[in-house]
Amino acid sequence: MNDLVLHSRRKRADSRAIRPLFALAAVIPALVAALAVPAHAATVDAASPSAGSTAVVAAVDDSQLNAGPPSRGGNYMHDADAAWVRPVAGRITSNYGPRPVICTPAGCSNTFHDGVDFGSACGTPIKAISPGRVTSATNAGSFGERVIIDHGSGLESIYGHMQTGSFKVSVGQHVQAGTIIGNVGMTGVATGCHLDLKIRTGAYTDPKPFLAFRGVTL
Ligand SMILES: [Zn+2]
Repeated sequence: MNDLVLHSRRKRADSRAIRPLFALAAVIPALVAALAVPAHAATVDAASPSAGSTAVVAAVDDSQLNAGPPSRGGNYMHDADAAWVRPVAGRITSNYGPRPVICTPAGCSNTFHDGVDFGSACGTPIKAISPGRVTSATNAGSFGERVIIDHGSGLESIYGHMQTGSFKVSVGQHVQAGTIIGNVGMTGVATGCHLDLKIRTGAYTDPKPFLAFRGVTL
């Protein structure tokens, strides 16, 4: 029953969404270039010894968004017609990329931020970004209370620093795009209430261009 509903919903979404998606695909390289160049320039200015090589890696990941045949498992064109939503209200307070270490009494952050942070009030509901199955809902040390959703084909979304006791889903549960999975918190290593969203396609990838290609602006 659910499959039938989902299928018909997808079909309707396809007919509406395909043409804008093609149009979007045509302008994405230019958008990515426009957005990425100043950001990379800024990180190089930060004098991190790894900034140069990191920028190259990011550029490779960006290009794969529009790649044709799958290469080393990094192409996820096939899920572009699934439903995708923004996980939470609030502006981005920290982007994906190199970042100075931040230490709190609970520990220190890494030198590379492999997610994006949304500054949102503690208690704000967090939505699953796409349909999938919950594979983890537990405390993850410095990442705090964390939920992981498997979207199939090796693609996962990961939600960190959630409020203690706020989980609304459990392991094995199937969710839709927009299903509330819990609330924003500041558990683990965090200096304020925020959601850290990570997207893993084998390796971590920048959620911003990944979701932009799927019609979601962060
Ligand atoms: Zn973060």
